[in-house]
Amino acid sequence: MNIILLGPPGAGKGTQARRLVEELGMIQLSTGDMLREAKSSGTEMGLKVAAVMDAGELVTDEIVIGLIDEKIRSDTGAGFIFDGFPRTLAQADALAELLSRNGATLDAVIEMRVDDAALVKRISGRYTCGTCGEVYHDETRPSAVDGVCDNCGGTDMKRRADDNADALKTRLMEYYKKTSPLIGYYYAKGDLTPVNGLADIEDVAKSIKLALR
Ligand code: AMP
Repeated sequence: MNIILLGPPGAGKGTQARRLVEELGMIQLSTGDMLREAKSSGTEMGLKVAAVMDAGELVTDEIVIGLIDEKIRSDTGAGFIFDGFPRTLAQADALAELLSRNGATLDAVIEMRVDDAALVKRISGRYTCGTCGEVYHDETRPSAVDGVCDNCGGTDMKRRADDNADALKTRLMEYYKKTSPLIGYYYAKGDLTPVNGLADIEDVAKSIKLALR
């Protein structure tokens, strides 16, 4: 089963993707994580995209399609969760092509709906465990012990360079201009299932599993 988690920044795509990895053994393909990794390991591509990412703009279709192409080739059969990809119509078309080239199909697109005010609150205050990726929030979900991950005990808590008011504004603009048309695109294809991304994490997870049945 191959699925897309679609939604604006802060909608909870990463959190839900990690749950599906744990519960269903699927593989999370987050282009944001791949790009951040390239950036922090200082590869040529990472250096090229760093400023664009920090500003909250989208990197080129060519780069992200290349990243996904590479990963899809190493398909292990458990199914992919596309998290943060596709983000443009060109990426959506490329994904269809890549899947069909690998004899695979897209089984569902989950649209995670949240309102903009909630996104701003969620993103300012967000930090993640650099070891396992668990997501925390200063006010709504702090770790039990300051600086220590509840999930894995890691102490490498990180705040994203683009989780600030200016970059968030650009990220939201990019989402509405370039990514939100994908809602109509997948609706017309009959693949789209909306879920309420404002419900608590457990309830969102339940709605997603229900949609995948
Ligand atoms: P994310 O972690 O998904 O919020 O992505 C962080 C940043 O990485 C985005 O703001 C973009 O700069 C870049 N990025 C991630 N995925 C894509 C994509 N599919 N297309 C273009 N840029 C992307």
